Amino acid sequence: MSNQSEIDLLNTKELFDFLQGEMPEGFQIPKKDIPRLTPDQAMTVIWYLGNKHWQVTDHIERCGVCGEIYDTWGAGFCLDYGREPYHFCDDCMSSEEFRRKAKRNPNRKERRAFLAGEWP
Ligand SMILES: [Zn+2]
Repeated sequence: MSNQSEIDLLNTKELFDFLQGEMPEGFQIPKKDIPRLTPDQAMTVIWYLGNKHWQVTDHIERCGVCGEIYDTWGAGFCLDYGREPYHFCDDCMSSEEFRRKAKRNPNRKERRAFLAGEWP
């Protein structure tokens, strides 16, 4: 077995277990958000991703305000402190939720810049 196919197999096994509720080491997910698919359902998701030739990346996020999926490389913003929401799509960056949270930014420099209308 080539090194790449070994890696593919390990990653696929990890995804298979993840989709059934087994968290990989180092991941902490609120209990209510842990997926609990059956083995058949988990394999259907893997089959779907494989057949779509999707490469699953870590720069796609879901807006915590409106629920839209967006690419963080070209849009939106992340305020990863305090309570949810953490991710904001472009549209929701003008929302009251974003304004309220940005005002409580623990980073004083960013908070001051936000209040002066210069950030983000
Ligand atoms: Zn949004």
